[in-house]
Amino acid sequence: MLRLFCSIFLLGYCLTAHAMYGLQPKQVANNTWVLEGSTDNFSNENGGNIVNIAFIVTDVEVILIDSGPSFAYGRELATAIAKITDKPVGRILLTHHHPDHMLGSQAFPGARIAALAETAQLMQDEGDAMAENMYRMVGDRMRGTEVVMPDTLLEAGLLELDNYRLQLLQLRGHTNADLAVFDPQTGVLFAGDLVFYQRAVSTAHTPSIATWLEDIETLAALPWKVIIPGHGPVARNDAPLQQMRDYLGWLDQLLTTAAAQGDDMNNIMRTPIPKRFADINLTEYELVRTVNHLYPAYEKAYWQQLSE
Ligand SMILES: [Zn+2]
Repeated sequence: MLRLFCSIFLLGYCLTAHAMYGLQPKQVANNTWVLEGSTDNFSNENGGNIVNIAFIVTDVEVILIDSGPSFAYGRELATAIAKITDKPVGRILLTHHHPDHMLGSQAFPGARIAALAETAQLMQDEGDAMAENMYRMVGDRMRGTEVVMPDTLLEAGLLELDNYRLQLLQLRGHTNADLAVFDPQTGVLFAGDLVFYQRAVSTAHTPSIATWLEDIETLAALPWKVIIPGHGPVARNDAPLQQMRDYLGWLDQLLTTAAAQGDDMNNIMRTPIPKRFADINLTEYELVRTVNHLYPAYEKAYWQQLSE
C-alpha cells in the first residue's frame, strides 16, 4: 500500500515537474513568438509566471527577450522552443534586472546573456536578494534557481547580427535601466516593463513618473506594428500606450495634489480607483506600493517649490 502511494505520489510529482507552467508559445509576427504570463501577482499557483517572454527565430539562432522567473520556467521554455525550431538559443537580451524577467537564463548554458551595463550592475547588487524574495513568494517552483550574470553588455543603437538587425533603446522609466527592443524587420516592439497593459504598473524602482512618461513617447514614436508589453496582452494598436499615459498621468496628478494638500499617506492609499481603470488588474495593491515608494519625493518637491 505504501509502495503504491509512493508511486502515485512520485508520478504526480514527475508530471508537475515536467510541465509545471504549461507554456504555449503564440506566434505574433513573422518568426516571432510570445509566452504570455498571468496579470496576477506572484503566487505558488502561477510559479512566478506573471511575465511575457518572447523569442525571434533568425536564420542562425533563437534570440530570447527575457528568460522568465525560474530555472524550471527556463527549462520548459527551452522544450517549447525546440518544438518550433531546431536552431539553438544563441542569445538572451534581458530588458531589466527584475527577477521574473531574468531567472530562467540558467536553462540556456550555450547562450550569450546580454544586458545594459546598468542592468548588469543592478543584477550584481540586488539579484540574489530578489531571487530569495521570489523563493518566499513562489515557493517550490523556484527550486535550484540561481542568478546568471550577463556576459555581454549592450548599448543603445543598432545591434547587427548575422542577417538580422535589432534597434536597441536605453530608457529609464521602470527601473532606471530599461532596454526596449524594436525589430525593424517585423515592426514588433518588445517594450519590457516600460509598458504594462491591463495590469497596474509596479513603481518600486522608477526614477520618476515624469521620466516614465517621456519613455512612453519615445516608444510611441517608433514605427511599431505590434507591442509586446512586459505584462499583459499583446496589442496591435496603441491602447497599451494610451493606458500608460492615462494611468501614469492619474498617479502623478493624485500624488501632486495630495502633496499640496499635505494629505496623509494612509488616506491617499485608499483613494478610489477611477472607473475607467476597472479592467486593469491589481490597481489597489499597486497604489499602496506606489504611495509608499513615491509620495515622499512628491512632498519634498512641493516643499522645495514653496521655498524657491
Ligand atoms: Zn519589472
